[in-house]
Amino acid sequence: DPAGWSDAGAAAGFDPFAGAGPRRDFTGADPRTVLREVYGYDAFRGEQGAIVEHVIAGGDAVVLMPTGGGKSVCYQVPALVRPGTGLVVSPLIALMHDQVDALVANGVRAAYLNSTQAPPERAAVERAYLAGELDLLYVAPERLNTETTLRFLGRGRLSVIAIDEAHCVSQWGHDFRPDYLALGALAERFPGVPRLALTATATPATHREMTERLHLPDARHFVSSFDRPNIQYRIEAKSDPRRQLVAFIRSQGAGAAGIVYALSRKSVEQTAEFLSAQGVDALPYHAGLPAETRAANQSRFLREDGVVMVATIAFGMGIDKPDVRFVAHIDLPKSVEGYYQETGRAGRDGEASVAWMAYGLGDVVQQRRLIDQSPGDRSFKTRLGQHLDAMLGLCETVGCRRQNLLAYFGEASEPCGNCDTCLEAPDTWDGLVPAQKLLSTIVRLQRERNQAFGAGHLIDILRGASTDRIRQQGHDQLSTYGLGADLGEQDWRSVIRQLLARGILVARGEYGTLALGEPAAGVLRGETPVPLRRDVMRRSGGVARVRKSTAPENLDPANVGVFEALRAWRAGVARELGVPA
Ligand code: ADP
Ligand code: MG
Ligand code: ZN
Repeated sequence: DPAGWSDAGAAAGFDPFAGAGPRRDFTGADPRTVLREVYGYDAFRGEQGAIVEHVIAGGDAVVLMPTGGGKSVCYQVPALVRPGTGLVVSPLIALMHDQVDALVANGVRAAYLNSTQAPPERAAVERAYLAGELDLLYVAPERLNTETTLRFLGRGRLSVIAIDEAHCVSQWGHDFRPDYLALGALAERFPGVPRLALTATATPATHREMTERLHLPDARHFVSSFDRPNIQYRIEAKSDPRRQLVAFIRSQGAGAAGIVYALSRKSVEQTAEFLSAQGVDALPYHAGLPAETRAANQSRFLREDGVVMVATIAFGMGIDKPDVRFVAHIDLPKSVEGYYQETGRAGRDGEASVAWMAYGLGDVVQQRRLIDQSPGDRSFKTRLGQHLDAMLGLCETVGCRRQNLLAYFGEASEPCGNCDTCLEAPDTWDGLVPAQKLLSTIVRLQRERNQAFGAGHLIDILRGASTDRIRQQGHDQLSTYGLGADLGEQDWRSVIRQLLARGILVARGEYGTLALGEPAAGVLRGETPVPLRRDVMRRSGGVARVRKSTAPENLDPANVGVFEALRAWRAGVARELGVPA
């Protein structure tokens, strides 16, 4: 809206910094002085110092740092030290408000431009930017899609450009936002302005995609460890989830603040009620509650001790409560990225905390059905299936949970000693022979017929099913046909997931066809043992029940990992906030 760029703000006498202290000019200052005087910190943490130095010197940076690692300092300090205004692209309006308020309270001239603003306020911010009076300007990504905004920014002086939550540019990631795709153009538009892409969620693939799409070929890459050593990971088989949850919460002691994540709104409400009846100070939170209820519950959670928030994943982004002692999942997250992000909300203060989850076969059936019913195309569904498989691999691992989690992010580590499987060896069975049957079926099909198949068809072969495809392909002639009938279909799926999680199998391409990974040779020779986890299958009785409360119509769309649902959800959020979707 070009009418915005005017002096209407001045005319209306609007002061975006009313109540703030006097502005302090840190241009050219020592970054450590800024850190001390603006933030009150004694020293940079981890890679912060190196990143700040690199960017002040004019370099681009790609920053992978876990949630709570301190990414904001990485761009805010260079923005203060370099002449001009730091542009910050941030996807969530609510987050923008909080960050800007905190900065202004510390004497930093920070402001935001978004569609929730009244015209005089916006005009005052614009005027301040053009007059060179702003240290930091936060902008929503969709604004940077417009020529008007870009031209306006070109009339002032930018010191750095920071793209926060940069994984949103990844189409295959769990949090894709189309507006991020246009941000690559900032490179050509503002040459000479150092740019940073920051994220707390990056698999090696997302990392590559971010670097390419945001046009950062010459950036230096700062990759922190994603380990959160103070978080203890625990995943148990679901039998009586509510009773298990109460027992877990009680084991954490009174006064421990926590978050319980559930998939559906109905389940959130019922669980909160149930916990309250059990004497737990629990509150519900999901996108379907009135805004006042959500605000009131959030504020109680933040201000009081020992409140347990039962929520959908709509809750948590940008909630910076340092002393969350536990995060509990009573439904299976859709991806390892999501699990890591959600569990990462525990223990930001560095004190011992627990990430607890109860998981059962019903979760798997339900998520598979959601994927099947999702309106995306085949390759999209395959991708969702791979996210789910990786998550299941983590649930079913007989090895260290943390090692598995970090390996997913491309980080090698030793067994941690602070997760359930490290603390107590899980119940296992010898999966060598089934693994060999499966692997040799894959090898035969590949060598003799140059064919590759996904899990479903391979299981049909092993179990000796008589499908059209089996008959048409003559797969009933294979030597392994029917050799695996001793295991049920779900058992086979569990075997495959665990082999995938260990890299013995790899899933490829649009159809998720299975191929042998490097360690497969040792398994085929019988040299590599294949202990497989038993508890989930056994204790949930192998009976797949899908709870009513998680039927699709009851789901919080925020949890359904499909573009359409996400769009609908965003449109709803936008409507709630009164901004364009
Ligand atoms: P991220 O964006 O990576 O999740 P934030 O920038 O929000 O992390 O910082 C997380 C927390 O760490 C904040 O409470 C912040 O004040 C604190 N923090 C950041 N840098 C430092 C530091 N150098 N020393 C002490 N605390 C810090
Ligand atoms: Mg952040
Ligand atoms: Zn461990």
